[in-house]
Amino acid sequence: MDNTPVVGRFAPTPSGFLHLGNVFCSLLAWLYAKSSGGKIVLRIEDLDPQRCSLAKADALARELEWLGLTWDEGAYCSADSDSFFQSRRCDIYAHCFDLLQQQGLVYPCFCSRSELHAAEAPHASDGRIIYAGTCRKLTAAQRSAKMQQRRPAWRIKVADELIAFTDMHYGRQQANLAHECGDFILRRSDGVYAYQLAVVIDDALMGVNQVVRGCDLLSSTPVQLYLYRLLNLTPPSFCHIPLLTDAAGRRLSKRDGDLEIAALRQHFGSPEPIIGLLAYLAGQLPKPEPLTAAELLLLFRPEKVPLENIVVPQLL
Ligand code: GLU
Repeated sequence: MDNTPVVGRFAPTPSGFLHLGNVFCSLLAWLYAKSSGGKIVLRIEDLDPQRCSLAKADALARELEWLGLTWDEGAYCSADSDSFFQSRRCDIYAHCFDLLQQQGLVYPCFCSRSELHAAEAPHASDGRIIYAGTCRKLTAAQRSAKMQQRRPAWRIKVADELIAFTDMHYGRQQANLAHECGDFILRRSDGVYAYQLAVVIDDALMGVNQVVRGCDLLSSTPVQLYLYRLLNLTPPSFCHIPLLTDAAGRRLSKRDGDLEIAALRQHFGSPEPIIGLLAYLAGQLPKPEPLTAAELLLLFRPEKVPLENIVVPQLL
């Protein structure tokens, strides 16, 4: 039996305000880690300066705290809090990008958005576009000519092979990246490192060994496992969880402003009804009943979390 203490994480993107869907995910990450005596790291995923702001990160942290979802290390907590903001970690990403480049796996891509979305572009079964590898085939001379005209994005070559893993909640999963997404982006043309690269490096360097997150990211996991292998890093356990949706089955998002925690906080006045509702949606209570996160921890049973996405009832 493996006795390594569990290290889970909250990894919010401060591009919007915290809403019920994000909290559902954070709550389950917290419950999974704490129920096995583990700890939680808070990392702020503010890679994209256009979409993210410090004010939103501050608000996210305050709201998680108000809900009783505490963390043990990381942003707003450790002495080196700043180093848990992705926007401060570009040197580390650059170093790992270089390591991949030295393996001869990285190449510049000059395709425009419209070329990538052209009608004849191949699509995977889930609708994602598979990169056709157009720029992989360019000669050195063609590359340098194109470099004069446009700043490229940078892609990594994928292999035609199955990557398999066992998800803690959904069981055995496998994918062939060549058929699911093709060579994927490591660094955008505006210089921003891709989520896939940053998340792997951060989870590994921050000692995270249990990743609990929405099942919309299930298809990212083989991509990330591929990078773990190339960078010689140890991957965590993965536990994907169902998404909260509206009555039409659409994933909750920023457009559902009434499900922002700030609005729910104003309406309910205390965190217990919100935690109680989430506990009910997570299959932990027969009906919504106010309780604290600490109380929920005592009754948490991971096997009761549903597999299907969960419709959130009208709240306000
Ligand atoms: N930052 C991502 C989000 O807020 C989470 C990424 C992950 O859990 O790997 O959706």
